[in-house]
Amino acid sequence: MIEPLHIAVVGAGIAGLSCATALQHAGYRVSVFDKSRGPGGRMSTRRGDSWQCDHGARFFTADDPGFRAEVARWERAGVAAPWYPELRQIDAAGRVTRGDAAERFVGTPGMSAPARMLASSLALYSGQTVSAVQRDGTSWRLLGQGEALSGCRFDALVIALPAPQAAQLLHAVAPRQGALAASVTMAPCWALMLQYAQPQALGFDAAQLAAGALCWAARDSAKPGRSGSESWVLHASAAWSTAHIDADPVTVAAQLLPAFAELGAAAPVQWQAHRWLYATPATPRAEVFDWDPKLALGLCGDWLGGVNVEAAWLSGRRLAHEISLR
Ligand SMILES: Cc1cc2nc3c(=O)[nH]c(=O)nc-3n(C[C@H](O)[C@H](O)[C@H](O)COP(=O)(O)OP(=O)(O)OC[C@H]3O[C@@H](n4cnc5c(N)ncnc54)[C@H](O)[C@@H]3O)c2cc1C
Repeated sequence: MIEPLHIAVVGAGIAGLSCATALQHAGYRVSVFDKSRGPGGRMSTRRGDSWQCDHGARFFTADDPGFRAEVARWERAGVAAPWYPELRQIDAAGRVTRGDAAERFVGTPGMSAPARMLASSLALYSGQTVSAVQRDGTSWRLLGQGEALSGCRFDALVIALPAPQAAQLLHAVAPRQGALAASVTMAPCWALMLQYAQPQALGFDAAQLAAGALCWAARDSAKPGRSGSESWVLHASAAWSTAHIDADPVTVAAQLLPAFAELGAAAPVQWQAHRWLYATPATPRAEVFDWDPKLALGLCGDWLGGVNVEAAWLSGRRLAHEISLR
């Protein structure tokens, strides 16, 4: 019997999971590695006592027919649902208008749920930080502290990481692909998760702000399938987050909470801050994936072909298709 080719996927965000799922369906043996405790990457949910909040991706849209079909599958499995927030746009002069009625989706009961569903049929090794990758003859080896990393050789390697992290792993072993990843800058985002004992009557569930420290404020507990107490999430703008990149969480909260109070919010019972160093690609590439057949090395992620969840899923899926044409 011929053994199937063994492919390593580094990164269990939606791009890596989409790629790994399609490769597995195509008959490859796939192992997925991620440094975090669970899958999902930036599609993430923070949980506390009777409280939860999506502090990364706010929602996702689905325009591509293939991604729409995937989202429909997620909906049937109960891990995603449409979200129709009472949305407001607040312009630089403080004028408030009704937001668009675009179809938005969220993971249920939290944003990481679609990723967890995909990961459940894959060999996922969590808590495994890949610190280097090595080309060894015709195979790849992954280096790092995790036990699962050592000892395995892979016939092909997929890097599904934010561009700066991909660049770091690749520059020595694959200079062209390292330079491709290094050409993309990613904007940071400070996120503040707020817990309330009482509902906040602000007249909206979500607001997009065009100026000032905040660019997004949303009642996370109003998303479908949520339980627990009232929670809101605030995102600072890319400009503000860049200017405060090294600030400590207390300083960040001390500046963002008054901006939220200006919208009519009370002080929260509790808050937590999270800094995303690589939140969204500021200069994404037009190509949807990269595949080097000589090195058997592929790249996917939101920074290839877009800036969001849909782009990341498509990037992974299309890379898998290209690999399976080998
Ligand atoms: C604050 C914020 C708001 C957003 N809002 C939206 C939105 O409203 N709509 C939308 O569509 N998108 C939004 N996005 C973007 C969306 O979350 C991303 O486009 C998408 O999740 C990217 O998926 P990915 O698989 O490419 O990368 P990631 O989700 O970043 O996955 C990469 C994975 O690699 C792992 N990793 C990193 N380094 C290593 C290593 N050395 N070894 C092992 N594992 C490693 C990480 O733990 C992570 O799990 C938002 C993002 C943020 C942060």
